[in-house]
Amino acid sequence: MISVDRISKSYGSGENVVHALDNVSLNIAKGEIFGVVGQSGAGKSTLIRTINSLERPDSGTVTVDGQNMNLLQGAQLRSARHNIGMIFQHFNLLSSRTVQSNVELSLEITGMDRGARRKRAAEILDLVGLSGKATAYPAQLSGGQKQRVGIARALASKPSVLLSDEATSALDPETTQQILDLIRQLSRELGLTVLLITHEMDVVKRICDSAAVMSQGRILEQGTVEGLLTTE
Ligand code: ADP
Ligand code: ADP
Repeated sequence: MISVDRISKSYGSGENVVHALDNVSLNIAKGEIFGVVGQSGAGKSTLIRTINSLERPDSGTVTVDGQNMNLLQGAQLRSARHNIGMIFQHFNLLSSRTVQSNVELSLEITGMDRGARRKRAAEILDLVGLSGKATAYPAQLSGGQKQRVGIARALASKPSVLLSDEATSALDPETTQQILDLIRQLSRELGLTVLLITHEMDVVKRICDSAAVMSQGRILEQGTVEGLLTTE
């Protein structure tokens, strides 16, 4: 479902060059939950940005659901992005809008009409267990509830891929577990492929099928989570 083939990306030049990604390759199967773990500066965010094509690699290719993300432009690129949902550490909700409206907003850009947007937003809020909070504002929610809205917004357009950028890093351990359980449940129910980046090995252990360990733009090790743990 996601194939990253020998991508490299550098910033700056000369003495100040930073190799954010150095010949990185990954293959993530449909329905798989794949973790990329590494410390700050390892290149994880750059990897995610090349996958949703916010950034183009200097070399190598990224294929998502059969489409070469490097070659897409305009309407094709927008359409490929609707197939990729994204969740964030700080949720990125709009504080002036209700929960329902935050979710509907992500559907506006897909061109769905108002009635269909309402219906879909209600459906997906139900799926993440937040039906009762549709008219609440983000400030009235707990961290875990905010991330449920984030997940609902990411999945509203029925993407086949979910990218998670430190999505549990701002949450306490118990809430972290609940959000990871929800992501796993949704991945199973919807056949969703998940790429999760985190600085916490513990998160990888709890939820991922396979994982890669990154440092200084390179993948040090990659394999099943069980395999990675036994070589520790
Ligand atoms: P991580 O997400 O693992 O913390 P990043 O992908 O954000 O790592 O960063 C990898 C390296 O690339 C870091 O050294 C960072 O400073 C550098 N970097 C990332 N984005 C940029 C940018 N837009 N301009 C310059 N350097 C960048
Ligand atoms: P802008 O006014 O900059 O075009 P939008 O109104 O599209 O931004 O979105 C505002 C905020 O909501 C952004 O910070 C963005 O991160 C977030 N957002 C909107 N739609 C989505 C989505 N489908 N997935 C993830 N985040 C989204």
